[in-house]
This record gives sequence, structure tokens and C-alpha cells, in this order.
Amino acid sequence: MQDKLKILSAAAKYDVSCSSSGSSRSTPKGGMGNGEASGICHSFTDDGRCVSLLKILLSNVCLFDCAYCSNRRSNDIPRATFRPSEVVNLVLEFYRRNLIEGLFLSSGIFGSVDTTMEALVAVARTLRTEHRFGGYIHLKTIPGASPELVAQAGLYADRLSVNIEIPSEAGLKNLAPEKDYASVFTPMNSIHQGILEHKAESKISRFAPRFSPAGQSTQLIVGASPESDLQILSLASGLYGKQQLKRVYYSGYIPVNRDARLPTLLRPPLRRENRLYQADWLMRFYKFQFDELVDDLHPDLDPDLDPKAAWALRHPERFPVDVNRADLETILRVPGVGVRSAKLIVEGRRHGAVRMEHLKRFGVVLKRARPFLYDPFAIGTYRDFRPERIRPLLASPSESTQLSLFHQPLLLTA
Ligand code: SF4
Repeated sequence: MQDKLKILSAAAKYDVSCSSSGSSRSTPKGGMGNGEASGICHSFTDDGRCVSLLKILLSNVCLFDCAYCSNRRSNDIPRATFRPSEVVNLVLEFYRRNLIEGLFLSSGIFGSVDTTMEALVAVARTLRTEHRFGGYIHLKTIPGASPELVAQAGLYADRLSVNIEIPSEAGLKNLAPEKDYASVFTPMNSIHQGILEHKAESKISRFAPRFSPAGQSTQLIVGASPESDLQILSLASGLYGKQQLKRVYYSGYIPVNRDARLPTLLRPPLRRENRLYQADWLMRFYKFQFDELVDDLHPDLDPDLDPKAAWALRHPERFPVDVNRADLETILRVPGVGVRSAKLIVEGRRHGAVRMEHLKRFGVVLKRARPFLYDPFAIGTYRDFRPERIRPLLASPSESTQLSLFHQPLLLTA
């Protein structure tokens, strides 16, 4: 059992689509676990990976041969498969020992797509119905799984996810020939439909069954295939809009296999991954459209500048912003000003003029914001806005100085 756990928890580490949020599942009467409890499994390693769930694969045996995956069938690695009852016992045991608050369960494809999906559903169903487990469950939906099994998964899981992995269909076909976008988007669309139907039913009856209450997410691998940030953010924007995903996770490609179809990277593109997360944040909370951040002239995010600063420097006509006159949306677009700070500035103006010296108290990062703001009473703010003078003040050191964690070779196979 220990050996299986070691193999199958290590095999799950490349899937980053496991942030848990949005659950309001409380402890069932006579049951255990609470997906609503403080933090709801929000715990991240310093590279952004979620760690507070028991994050394992049901099996690392896989019929498929995706070029970028350590579990692909052509790799000669130790293999293991849990029985659903073993995963259930592990979750209960770890939960009782207060080691975890929930489960993130994915799997390689063993037997068939539906055999695998059925086993994943069995774990969640047993936890919920036999053990009255109220903790957080994130189930990975296997691409191509039948709609009936996806519908069952949604009844027991807090969150479902189907990984797109490669941000273009051509790229996916090249690196994972056994998959296609239909096998990913069909379950994604049925999850979306299930969530909508549940919302409609819950308005009619409070006894309506819950369906994936924390929504769905997906993962995109960045840098294994040649898509630009424009293509990646355009895809993400569509997923937030059409399928109403809760989160899109970006995973800088980590080379684990030698394969002629894959690029040779000295290290995973973590800077790029970080910039995509920043851009994603701007789209979700700052009302940026993806094509404001990247376009045909600038198809990739600037690696040296955060996307908000890069956008601001490309739009000198919008700056400097007068903190006492600008509307909330304009203030939100100032680098160094967060959503809460922007609201505090607008609120603060009701009580008198907001001066530069007040901004720090409102949470503004003045070092970043000052070049974009104008206050006629403050020394060092100017009406003329010169991007070429500001850029060096905001640019970060290049990637080459940052990534010591991954300087070791990562290849598994010879
Ligand atoms: S289907 Fe999933 S587990 Fe199997 S090789 Fe592809 S990415 Fe890896």
C-alpha cells in the first residue's frame, strides 16, 4: 500500500488543476468532513501547486501515449493501480488524522475510458453515500467518458475538471494522437449543462441534487507546443465565457520524456506561466479583454513586465490618471492598484481630496503606481507620461537568474 501511495501521489504532481474553492458542502448528519470549513483546502507550495488535498492517481497505467506525460504507455516506469476501496480508506484515514481536507483524484486510462471513469465515480460515490463524507472532492473527468458517468460524477464531486492540456487541436493531435478536442469539450459541455440545470432546479426546489457545486476547471500545458499567448488567452477567455469555467490553470511544460515532437527546454517556462496567471487574473477581476493584453502585433506577453504594466505602457494616451477624477474602471487599470485599493480610493474621495500620501494606506504599491498617477499637490508626479522612462523602473530581472529549482535534468527516460 505504501509503495502504491508513493507511486500514485508522485505521478499526480504534474496536474495543477486542483485549487479547491467555491464549495459550501457542510458536514452531513452523522457524517464527517466539511468542504465549507476554513480555507477549504487552500494551501499552495511556493511554486503555486495546491497541496492540502490528498492528490493521487487511481492508476498510472495508461493505454494512451501522450508525448508530454510521464505515465504514457511507452515509458518504462513502476506502475500501480488502487482499488476504489483502497482510495476510500486512505481518504478516511488521512482525514481522521487531520492531514487532509479532501481529495483530488485523477487517473491514467486503464481498461477503457469508461472503466476508468466508473472507478473514479465509485470512489466519490462510496465516500459520499456509504461514509457520508462531506470533505472536498475534485474528480478528474477522463476525456471521452460517457455522459451518464459524467452526470454521476457531478452528483458526488465538488469540482470536476477535464484537462485540455494542449492549447490547440493541431498541437493536441500531434502530441496526444489518441485524443481530440471533441473528447475533451463534450464532457466539458455536459458538465456545464449539468451545472446550469442544477441552478435552474434549485430555484424550484431546495431538494434539487447538487451538481459539481464548485464548478469545473481545466489545465493548459504551456510551452510543449508552439501556441502563442494570444492563442492561449483567447482559448481561456472562451472557456470562461462559453463553458463558464471557474479556473483555467497554466502549467509550464516540464520535460519528462525524450520525444522528437517536443521542444528542447533547459528549464520549464515558469516566467511565462506566471505572466499567463497574471493575465488570467486581469481578465477575471479587472475587466480586461484578452485582446487588450495580447494582439497580432504583440502575440506573447512581455516576459519582463507584468501584463498590466505592459498594457499601460502601450497606452500612454490613458495616463497619467488623476486619482481624484478618474472613474473606478480607470483607476483599476493603474499598475500597483488592486481591486480593494481602487474601491477605497473612490470611497475615500467622498470625504475629501485623495492625496498621494494617502494611497499607501489604501494598499496601493506606490513604487509601481506613482509613474501612472497625477496629483497636482504631490512632488514627483508629472502630467507628461514617458513610457521609455518608466519601463526600466518596472522591468523584472530576466528568467535566467530565477529558476534554480529546475536546474537539475528532469528527463525520466533515456
Ligand atoms: S491520457 Fe493522461 S495519463 Fe494517459 S498518457 Fe495521456 S496525459 Fe498521461
